[in-house]
Amino acid sequence: MSLTTGAEYLQRLQDGRRVWLEGETVADVTAHEGLRASAREIAALYDLQHDPLHRDALTVEQHGERHGRAYMKPGSAGQLVARREGFEVWARASLGMLGRSPDYMATCLTAFAANQTFFSARENKGFAENLARYHEDARRRDLCLSHTFAGPRTDKSKTVSGQGAGLATALRIVGETDSGPVVRGMRSLATLAPLSDELLVFGAGRPLQAGEEDHSISFAIPVHTPGLQLICREPFTRQGRVDHPLASRFDEMDCVAVFEDLVVPWERVFVYRDIELDRNFKVATHFNEHVGQQVLARRVVKTELVLATVSAVVESTGLSKADEPRRRLGEIVTGLDLTRACLRAAEADAFPADSGMWTPATQPMLAGLRVSKDVYAAAIGTLRDLSASGLFMTPTSADLEGPLAEVISQYYRGATADGKERTRVYRLAWDLVGEAFGSRQLLFEKYFLGDPARSYAAAWDRYDKGRLGALLEDALAGGPTADEPTRGRS
Ligand SMILES: Cc1cc2nc3c(=O)[nH]c(=O)nc-3n(C[C@H](O)[C@H](O)[C@H](O)COP(=O)(O)OP(=O)(O)OC[C@H]3O[C@@H](n4cnc5c(N)ncnc54)[C@H](O)[C@@H]3O)c2cc1C
Repeated sequence: MSLTTGAEYLQRLQDGRRVWLEGETVADVTAHEGLRASAREIAALYDLQHDPLHRDALTVEQHGERHGRAYMKPGSAGQLVARREGFEVWARASLGMLGRSPDYMATCLTAFAANQTFFSARENKGFAENLARYHEDARRRDLCLSHTFAGPRTDKSKTVSGQGAGLATALRIVGETDSGPVVRGMRSLATLAPLSDELLVFGAGRPLQAGEEDHSISFAIPVHTPGLQLICREPFTRQGRVDHPLASRFDEMDCVAVFEDLVVPWERVFVYRDIELDRNFKVATHFNEHVGQQVLARRVVKTELVLATVSAVVESTGLSKADEPRRRLGEIVTGLDLTRACLRAAEADAFPADSGMWTPATQPMLAGLRVSKDVYAAAIGTLRDLSASGLFMTPTSADLEGPLAEVISQYYRGATADGKERTRVYRLAWDLVGEAFGSRQLLFEKYFLGDPARSYAAAWDRYDKGRLGALLEDALAGGPTADEPTRGRS
């Protein structure tokens, strides 16, 4: 086996998978109007691995075979930096718009599989070995994986097993056969699943309680496995490279995964009836630190695209020298610098974890993840504010090519650009800000790594309160008065 090509990846997706979209099953996900564009973008990323210009950044040779860098355990600080440089190549090629380029889940699976000590606890040893074997197989086949960690959104006030009451919704074990456990229920979100080779199911979405062991199962299955159905959201793809430069290319489909008495082969089960492992797998494997490196590298590119668009907008309105637009542009630059600084700090303070993997430092990485999603949201706000009615008062490509072409060129012109050029910039801005596509991008950055409110709260919970107490005490004790000797000085 060797590195996948784009054509091989597209071929693999034509396997009889059960994908539902707008009430119908999709016969071929690589041909469907709502899915094919992003399938081609992922295929193009795979092809970049074979491009002599990018091969060494994206892949590593081992025992005469080449593998995707994200599937390799970074064994040194230098290899960790090299992994990020690979992330940057794919992020640049997809303009930061594909959060689930295959390197994301390859990184995640590698971090999981390396943590044999953690997953081997109690009765789970054989299942931990399954995970190591699965990682090796996925690496050798250069698989594109999707994941679903999120449970049902049925009733957030109830426990996992309480979801749906009499009509239980959460994924759970409902039986056992010689071939493997039988599972039933749903997972609320799996981005890119219709365009992935396999689906990785981990955790239960929320901490399990004693007695909820039936909900404790983690595994991986090919997307075409009988008993799995994927229900897609409405596609946000829009046609036309000029009218929708982003929405025509990068609509990563999100879907619900429904499991109906699906038999998971025993060799593909990684955690079984162990609520402790389910509760702690993200922290123990340094999941956020590892995938965070891909996320920050990608967000830098994506936010820079917003910055470039804001800059082109204010150029076109003749406001590029005015104070307020320059201040707003400078705020985005500051956010970008902060994001880069967190990424670099996480790499500079990286440490060899128990798994043997060099791991980005936790605090700067978590801070970078929190800050960078707010930076992206603020940048989108700036683009909206500075574009104003220009966002939607734009002609279409049909107008640009039609009988009114000259009129449009004259009357839609900007300070520095003709009507056609200016229109193209604003169509890009509208994809980023206004379309369903742009709204979904904003939601994605805010939520895909979990509830941001809870991650800010956790930052406070983890903070060393002892330092604060000492500082507060010093402040409340007061400084020396004019007629008292200075404390602590002889
Ligand atoms: C575009 C997109 C793609 C995604 N892709 C994936 C994917 O591929 N795989 C995957 O596993 N997950 C994915 N996610 C899901 C992500 O993990 C969840 O969105 C995230 O965990 C938040 O859960 P939720 O959407 O159910 O929101 P909720 O948990 O319902 O949160 C909504 C609001 O309610 C508040 N809230 C929730 N619970 C409480 C409480 N108990 N008390 C007080 N306030 C509360 C939250 O603070 C928040 O403001 C994706 C999400 C998005 C938006």
